[in-house]
Amino acid sequence: MKIYVDGNYYSEQDAKVSVFDHGLLYGDGIFEGIRIYHGRVFRLKEHIDRLFYSAKAILLDIPMTHADLMKATVETCRQNNLREGYIRLLVTRGKGTLGLNPNRCKNPSIIIIADTIQLYPPEYYDKGLEIITVPTTRNLHNAVNPAIKSLNYLNNILAKIEANNSGCEEAVMLNSEGYVAECTGDNIFIVKDGQMFTPPLSAGALYGITRKVVIDMARESNMPVTEPNLTRYDLFNADECFLTGTGAELVPVVKIDGRVIGSGVPGPVTRDLVVRYHALTKVSGEPIYD
Ligand code: PMP
Repeated sequence: MKIYVDGNYYSEQDAKVSVFDHGLLYGDGIFEGIRIYHGRVFRLKEHIDRLFYSAKAILLDIPMTHADLMKATVETCRQNNLREGYIRLLVTRGKGTLGLNPNRCKNPSIIIIADTIQLYPPEYYDKGLEIITVPTTRNLHNAVNPAIKSLNYLNNILAKIEANNSGCEEAVMLNSEGYVAECTGDNIFIVKDGQMFTPPLSAGALYGITRKVVIDMARESNMPVTEPNLTRYDLFNADECFLTGTGAELVPVVKIDGRVIGSGVPGPVTRDLVVRYHALTKVSGEPIYD
């Protein structure tokens, strides 16, 4: 494997960061997770844009242009001869002192790892997931805004641990007002009476790239999509529920906190969106090879 670190490629063994990197010391940095399908990087521009938005929010100057970062990402896939896979792109605050002052970190580090992907088992998609609501509240948007895809994922990790402790793969996270925010690594949607709903970003959701693709696909087929605040009651009484994320794509949810959702099997709207999402990944994306 060849890993991009600050303009050079290193083997897995030699790709390293300093123990004084504030990405390690404080989780001070940002990242993106991106998919490679059929020799193309899916929604690359959107991911790079979101990375720059995250950077702006934490006052981190990425020492590259959008275009050059896109090129470096594609080149890293090429160096690894990937046609299918997953890219982890991160920018750390860089090497500093033990104090937390980011001004001591002169050079942010850019790391690009392009690897194969470990997919969820097919039964999650065939039968649907059972998920639970966990006690850990989503970060306040006036503390660390969940829209920032930062290297500090402890909020999500705590929720994931709570889900795992209950034998679940994913968890619904509520915000401090008790509204549904999102899951630990996925956005959440419901379908009710022919309409689709997903929490607004202000509820503490990440501006998911898959979320946007799904909203656009639903609107293309004239299904109304809105972003109201949702409660657990709304989830329990939905006709269908599904999660979206770069890694997971679209996963149906059939049980939440012991309540069966709809008819207890993946619903027709979800199944249709899954088919259309896969079709899109076949034809869309930044080509890696000529
Ligand atoms: N929410 C969180 C907390 C995430 O980490 C992610 C990405 N894994 C998502 C939602 C889904 O976003 P995307 O569709 O851009 O992958």
